[in-house]
Amino acid sequence: MDSPVTSALRAVDAFDAAALMAGLRSYYRSGTTAELSWRRQQLGQLRRMIADNERRFLQALQQDLHKAPQEGFMTEVAAVCGDIDHALKQLKKWVRRRRAATPLVAQPGRSYIQPEPLGVVLIIGAWNYPLQLLLGPLVPAIAAGNCAVLKPSELAPTTSRLVAELLPAYLDRDAFACVEGAVAETSALLEQRWDHILYTGGGHVGRIVMAAASRHLTPVTLELGGKSPCIVADDADMAVAARRIAWGKFINAGQTCIAPDYLLCTRATADRLLPLIARELRAMFGDEPRESADYGRIVNRRHTERIAGYLADGEVYCGGTVDLEQCYIAPTVLRNVGLETAVMQEEIFGPLLPVIELDDFHRMEQFVNERDKPLALYIFTGNAATADRILARCSSGNACINDCMMFMSAHELPFGGVGASGMGAYHGEHGFRTFSHFKAVMKRRNIFDLDLRYAPYSARKFKWLRLLR
Ligand code: NAD
Repeated sequence: MDSPVTSALRAVDAFDAAALMAGLRSYYRSGTTAELSWRRQQLGQLRRMIADNERRFLQALQQDLHKAPQEGFMTEVAAVCGDIDHALKQLKKWVRRRRAATPLVAQPGRSYIQPEPLGVVLIIGAWNYPLQLLLGPLVPAIAAGNCAVLKPSELAPTTSRLVAELLPAYLDRDAFACVEGAVAETSALLEQRWDHILYTGGGHVGRIVMAAASRHLTPVTLELGGKSPCIVADDADMAVAARRIAWGKFINAGQTCIAPDYLLCTRATADRLLPLIARELRAMFGDEPRESADYGRIVNRRHTERIAGYLADGEVYCGGTVDLEQCYIAPTVLRNVGLETAVMQEEIFGPLLPVIELDDFHRMEQFVNERDKPLALYIFTGNAATADRILARCSSGNACINDCMMFMSAHELPFGGVGASGMGAYHGEHGFRTFSHFKAVMKRRNIFDLDLRYAPYSARKFKWLRLLR
């Protein structure tokens, strides 16, 4: 006869979310996933899954987003492998008990904080980095000892299919499942009582996820997006700024949650910087980026039309070519952009860089602070005090001085938004914390028992209590 676990997993094919959850929960309760050796073994298997199939993953990314293999390797494959290696190296330290002080009134005794897994967690990925945003959160979920369901984005179908095919071949099938699909499948999953949900995507669906989670008081990590500003000061090294901004904005054809959404600088800086950005774009993608194997495509026609619609919101400084059939939009810089236009009201999430020219830092800071708190803030300046001042006055999920996006490469930095750009964070130990509960434990000994807290109360006890509190 089938065990409840196997029969529950068999039902995954027909996608019965409740049965899937029952199977995973029963396995979680067996205690297997809490074992350190199991966690290590599963992380090793995940590493093997990526190494054995690297070529297939890079092909899938190319098919879904026209991602150049080197870019796919750098931003997805190597990123996840780096997360796994770091987790394997740090795991022993992460899972250890943290000692805490025990007050006099609780002596003799010991206090400590014990991390424990949360249980069964749901990870909902987005399409723009379909591998990294799905497996990246899985790493800390495993490290923390959880069972997990992965829901890849349907907008990157080749990568979604490949993960769904490979995951059961490498990972413990009783602990992990990959559910492909779109709104219907995600909605069915969201009906279940998860112990944590990590969602990556836009704020609209983020609200749906949070509302569903609230029915079960499930904690959520929301990795959202928004308009990340890039401030370029007059004293910045313009050649370096141009190259790094061109890279950060146009990698993956601008479909990066932490891409600089728009530039903020003075008119004089724009006059110096923009020719250098145009030169960098030619150096990276040639005179005809459409012909470049290294330049991406927009994920689908709907998004291509949406982004192309923004072109009318400013003057095209360079780029501006669109091929709807090919989901192609050239790397484009826009000047003289109206602040009330759609390109400055919505997250662009595509290869258009509007330049907003303002006279001074005060107005630039005001500009940032009048809008939703961004996921990332970029400041290019030769003056450390300028950077510190802007950092102190403008809130953002992450920030980078004199570069774009590179904070992602530091395992010890948390990655997450603030306000409208998200809540919670992951990466490295921060991810381990996200998928763990830190349980407070006090262990008392029986040899001595201060009687001050017990009735009958008395003046003597009261006096000592005041002294010892
Ligand atoms: P998406 O369309 O792929 O949606 C994300 C996930 O939500 C998918 O798995 C999808 O199936 C699911 N979903 C869609 N509609 C749903 C519904 N009605 N109910 C339940 N689930 C639903 O991704 P997207 O939203 O287009 O992603 C782009 C956004 O994500 C941008 O705003 C970007 O900034 C943000 N983003 C953030 C990060 C980050 O790490 N902070 C990373 C990438 C993208």
